[in-house]
Amino acid sequence: MRWLDAFLLAVCAGQTVAHTGPDESRHSLPRLAGSRRFLNTFSGKRRWQKGSGTPLVKEPEQPRGEAVEAVPKDIAVHLKDCQINYGSGCDGNQKPDGVDTSDIERPKLGDVRYGGVGIYDCVNPGDIAVTFDDGPYNYTNDLLDKFAEYGAKATFFITGTNLHKGKINDPDLPWASVIQRMAAEGHQIASHTWSHENFSQLDDTQARNQLIWNEIALNDILGYFPTYMRPPYSICPRDCQSLMADLGYHVTYFDLDTEGYLNDEEDMIQTSKDIWDDAIDGSDPCKDSYLEIEHDIHYQTVYNLTDYILQSLFDHGYRSVTVGQCLGDPPENWYRAGSGSVPEYTFAVPDPTGTSSCPTITDPSAPTSTMDVSEDGTCGDGVTCAGSSFGNCCSVNGWCGASIDYCGQNCNPDFGDCADGDSPLPGDEPLPSGPETSGGSGDPSTTTGPAPTGSLQVSIEGNCGGDVTCEGSEFGNCCSVSVSHLASAPTVLLYPIIGAIVLG
Ligand SMILES: [Zn+2]
Repeated sequence: MRWLDAFLLAVCAGQTVAHTGPDESRHSLPRLAGSRRFLNTFSGKRRWQKGSGTPLVKEPEQPRGEAVEAVPKDIAVHLKDCQINYGSGCDGNQKPDGVDTSDIERPKLGDVRYGGVGIYDCVNPGDIAVTFDDGPYNYTNDLLDKFAEYGAKATFFITGTNLHKGKINDPDLPWASVIQRMAAEGHQIASHTWSHENFSQLDDTQARNQLIWNEIALNDILGYFPTYMRPPYSICPRDCQSLMADLGYHVTYFDLDTEGYLNDEEDMIQTSKDIWDDAIDGSDPCKDSYLEIEHDIHYQTVYNLTDYILQSLFDHGYRSVTVGQCLGDPPENWYRAGSGSVPEYTFAVPDPTGTSSCPTITDPSAPTSTMDVSEDGTCGDGVTCAGSSFGNCCSVNGWCGASIDYCGQNCNPDFGDCADGDSPLPGDEPLPSGPETSGGSGDPSTTTGPAPTGSLQVSIEGNCGGDVTCEGSEFGNCCSVSVSHLASAPTVLLYPIIGAIVLG
């Protein structure tokens, strides 16, 4: 096994590595899970086998196989300005002016993981997060015009100094105003490091500087800096993963790449459109989502492919959102305050405009049956949960709720709606508290059993049951029951659900 194999296996958990002959490039493949579709994203075979792409330039010190950001010859030599280990004059060794951000506190807010092996997928069905790396560049303002025209939102992974464009916060250069415009128009701004180095070739100080220096520049421009980053070449070895956790960054990859950077000719860009179509045609916006990567440093990507993508995205019934949105992460978590504060994000996501429509969850205010709506959390015998304040699912035991314990296979469809899994709570009113018992019918006040109380110990390891409760734990407030337990013996203890519906 050559070092790169081990390296990729170590740093790209969740991906597999396609082994080719010893003299061929190696390519990583996306992990197949959930709604992920198998794509040519990482394989790169298209460009080699078909000979349609410009031969890639491999900088001598770079590992083979960083195909995710391999670029045509005319760009590769400029993607980073020079080798930072071979001269202090290299742009990557020039720290930007601005307030040092090193000592700013970095609390880890929200549910999206920090550091580690990173993020590949959106979580919200129907979302497509189109992202752009390596800019801003000469075409980026025009790209913003296009997104404004479509009412679409992008995420920009900003590189501080590359392509000999100078420092992004240089007041004599246009980049700061471009970045300010991104923010002002509701796009998300993320870090693609200061000078686009390969983290596998940096010492600890160099690696840290790649993040901190970009923070300094972005803070100088915006007054805040991002919590999302994408490693150049999609390479983030174990030390890098730890550093990102220390610095409070979400390591953001992607699950769809049209390889626009390889097809930057008018007669080649159709190949990228085909890759897009392979993924999107036949996909289901009610189930699927995509975290897509482009590069706004390529002419055909900006002036040709982007129109195609945005038109298709909306035509297929998807929403155009930022990475934070597609991960369900509130906008205030996308950034850290620096010399200024993080502004309120006031941009609404437009409804899909395509023809596709997903089955809608029953409006709780408009029950569809003539049955009475449950007022006490029970259901059955002419009483439905649909439209009740306790949740729309009626459990087989005759109780209304919104969690998987009431929905899915545990649901009685005659007296409510049955979602596949957890369904949204119709309001803020609490679900029925106390235990559910076998048989389940009857006045809930007469049921007996050990309802969780404050005397229980809050789980510190994620387990629950006995005298250990999930309520108030860092793992979520719900204590799950095993499937086998549910199926065979529905005498289960269901703790009240408060806050997020998360099975413990
Ligand atoms: Zn890049």
